[in-house]
Amino acid sequence: MSTPELSKFEQMKANGELPSPKGSALAIVRLTQRDDASFNDLANAVKTDPAFVGRLIKAANGASLARRRPVASIQEALTILGLPAVRGLALGFSLVSTYRSGTCANFDYGQYWSKSLVRAIALQAVSVRTHHLSAEEAFCFGLLSNIGDLALATLYPEEFSRILAESEGSPRSVLLSRERTAFMLDSNALTAAMLQDWSLPTPFVSVVGFLDRPETATFAEGSRQANMLQSLVLAQHVAEVCVAQEDGRRSMVPQLYLLGGRLSLDSEALTQMCDQVAAEWQEWGALLSVDTAPIPPFEELSKLPPLPKMVHAIDPEQAQQEQYNMRVLVVDDDASMRAVLSALLSRAGHEVFVAGNGRQAFEMALDLRPQIMIADWMMPEMDGLELTVALRQTRIGRAVYIMLLTGVEDDNRLVDAFEAGADDFISKPLKPRVLEARLRAGQRVVLLQQEIERDRTDIQRFAAELAVTNRRLQEMAQTDSLTGMPNRRYAMDRLQQEWAESVRTGRSLGCLVVDIDDFKGINDNNGHDVGDAALRLASAAMKSALRANDVVCRTGGDEFLAICPDTSLESAIVCAERVRTAVSALRIPSSSGEIGMSVSVGVAVRDADMANPDALVKVADQGVYQAKAVGRNRYAATQSTGLNKK
Ligand code: GH3
Ligand code: MG
Repeated sequence: MSTPELSKFEQMKANGELPSPKGSALAIVRLTQRDDASFNDLANAVKTDPAFVGRLIKAANGASLARRRPVASIQEALTILGLPAVRGLALGFSLVSTYRSGTCANFDYGQYWSKSLVRAIALQAVSVRTHHLSAEEAFCFGLLSNIGDLALATLYPEEFSRILAESEGSPRSVLLSRERTAFMLDSNALTAAMLQDWSLPTPFVSVVGFLDRPETATFAEGSRQANMLQSLVLAQHVAEVCVAQEDGRRSMVPQLYLLGGRLSLDSEALTQMCDQVAAEWQEWGALLSVDTAPIPPFEELSKLPPLPKMVHAIDPEQAQQEQYNMRVLVVDDDASMRAVLSALLSRAGHEVFVAGNGRQAFEMALDLRPQIMIADWMMPEMDGLELTVALRQTRIGRAVYIMLLTGVEDDNRLVDAFEAGADDFISKPLKPRVLEARLRAGQRVVLLQQEIERDRTDIQRFAAELAVTNRRLQEMAQTDSLTGMPNRRYAMDRLQQEWAESVRTGRSLGCLVVDIDDFKGINDNNGHDVGDAALRLASAAMKSALRANDVVCRTGGDEFLAICPDTSLESAIVCAERVRTAVSALRIPSSSGEIGMSVSVGVAVRDADMANPDALVKVADQGVYQAKAVGRNRYAATQSTGLNKK
């Protein structure tokens, strides 16, 4: 407890009315604190309160499983229980009688004592079986381990009532944090302070403050305090099951098995213990005038919840994309283990499937493609190891992260299992935090695998997209955007190819350079848009005037190059005339009506004297120049047909 908490407690003690024993109980408590008190003095003090006698004898009877003959006398009860237990019981019973009602409106005094009582009985029952705390004292510990709640209700009835109303339906941690804000210490800390003040044994006092958050305790594993805390947490859970609404009880049972498992109480021992606790609760309730509720046999409660539906409808691809919620297949022949694991995994948000044996698990794994499988090692028929080996031989099974549940950690067996293909182990009894940590480790591997798989498909898709993009870029780089015709770059490449082909085959190669006449005038008189339309129409007309083999490219503003493979000068001249005619027939719409246009065409064919395609184009250019010079709207060839050498 921190210093401010302690001073707050001292202040509460000084100013307020902390719950405290009254009357004969007070005398008994005082007596047990004195060094010189004899058993006789104590017996006499106890006798003054007949109700206490009966309760004390009952408590003594509950403190042992193996007593042949029931305890009947006060002396015997006092001997069995010992001074500390008698003091604790005097204290506890006195508080039950004095504080069974109060002024804190939202504090349910009846339920508080009802739950405290069943926790007391449960803690005693657990202690009798596990010996982690004195069974004689366990009853009083259990009864008082939430006394801080009652204290807050007693000291601050109005404020605590308001906080209770505000926290209704929230987890207890919310209530505790509001308590800390309002009172500087929460009811857990207050419980610890009060028990210490009443001189209850220090180990128990140090444990009680962690009842609602055992995961934050730092007691060494296996230490007395760690085991005491486990026992108390189990008793608290039994109490919660008992006071829960009937329909909520069943879902609390897996946690019960889990907590029991941590104290090495198997499901049978636990069921039997809980039934006994429930029965004693009724008896004690009658004795102390505390409300109780009838509880059906725990055997009934612990019947397995129905199997999750076999979900064939899950789309494995889709589920693969849900990163954090994994499909987990639980395989165990022990129903309680299946229930515990299912509850833990579902609570962590995973989708859980269960199988009762290896064979069923094998089929389900192939069908459902779980990302993680948790399988018991020891199972009749096909055990966890055989299941692992079988799964690893399948493609789907190789992708599953397999964790084996094992009770014994024999190095050789572990090595065998890793070699068989297991990924990890979880030892029994299950520890939820360890399970969670190992699941997270498994999840990392699963996610990594998924990432690699995703990367691979991404890369494939990216490569395919890149190929398409490259093709498009290449097309774009070689296409004139206005007319959709190949551009100058393409024209020169293509001409180079046709040139080489022509040289190789000895066939002729013709080319036309086409330049629109007075195109500047068309632009100037009608606007650029009309000029653009004229360019588009002219290029389309040229294309359709030529053969499919011929290629028309736009090589400049109003200049085109037509490449005509396998074409003699005579044929090229025919082509030139066709092009000219086609263009001159065009009518281009403009704001001032339709306009016409014409072209000048220079014709050339490859000549043996020509060094390269540029030379060919140059000759055609000369033709254009000539055609323009003599009046436009015509073709001209500077080569003479007779000179056309091969
Ligand atoms: P010539 O008969 O001597 O060939 O006369 P011309 O007016 O056609 O002369 P020139 O070849 O110098 O003019 C070409 C004009 O083409 C100049 C330029 O503004 C225009 N032009 C170039 N590219 C485009 C284009 O993409 N769209 C339009 N509308 N006009 C263009
Ligand atoms: Mg021109």
